[in-house]
Amino acid sequence: MNVDLLTLFPGMFQGAFSESILKHAADRGLLDVRIHNIRDFASDKHRVTDDYPYGGGVGMVMKVEPLAACIEYVRKDRPASTVILTTPRGKTLNQGMARELAQEDGLIIICGRYEGIDERVRDLFVDREISIGDFVLTGGEFASLVLVDAVTRLIPGVLGSDESAEDDSFSNGLLEYPQYTRPPEFRGLAVPPVLLSGNNREIARWRRRESLRRTFLVRPELLEAACLTAEDASYVKELRSCGGNAD
Ligand code: SAM
Repeated sequence: MNVDLLTLFPGMFQGAFSESILKHAADRGLLDVRIHNIRDFASDKHRVTDDYPYGGGVGMVMKVEPLAACIEYVRKDRPASTVILTTPRGKTLNQGMARELAQEDGLIIICGRYEGIDERVRDLFVDREISIGDFVLTGGEFASLVLVDAVTRLIPGVLGSDESAEDDSFSNGLLEYPQYTRPPEFRGLAVPPVLLSGNNREIARWRRRESLRRTFLVRPELLEAACLTAEDASYVKELRSCGGNAD
């Protein structure tokens, strides 16, 4: 996948792509990231990229001309890429959206700053507006890193085994069950005996129930849309009747 990041602060991406999964994906040719400094596309002497908002008000707005020039330059090489604007006004990123984006040829991601960008950039170039949650960041750089990380791990071949993403929270509409590794006991807390039993059927049943319990306690609204078996539904009923303390 080709990823083009359009930013006023290219230095903020240093490190993020030279470690761990994102680096491995790039090393194996599964991810090709290019970072573009929007300021390089400002044509005036002082390379100005922001200006006062029409109508007054506090803060500055990112100007349309440098962004338009930057997007058009990038799109020459990547005509099939989807143009994404990071913005709190966008649709909230979720696992389903990350899965969809992992199928795209490429992503061109605009990192906003200040009070945001001139609306005409959105009108002329943007295919999707994406928010990473109901809060306001200083700029789109961290939002785009979150987006690229979530999408990259869903590109086939990026994770060691495709199953690692399949079992993750949200992949089946539920939060993931608790995980343990050695030692079997730490400071009086023992690993649930079923996980040491070697009985795969019982382990799967325990994990499913823990997944349902955790979802019920933390994100009950997810249960409404999750695909539940008759056994799941009866366990959820039990959880509801005893406030999450069912066996
Ligand atoms: N005035 C804007 C508003 O209220 O919608 C907020 C601008 S914010 C200070 C500057 C930039 O940070 C935005 O243009 C966007 O690129 C990015 N940003 C902030 N919060 C975000 C979020 N929750 N998701 C994605 N991007 C965000």
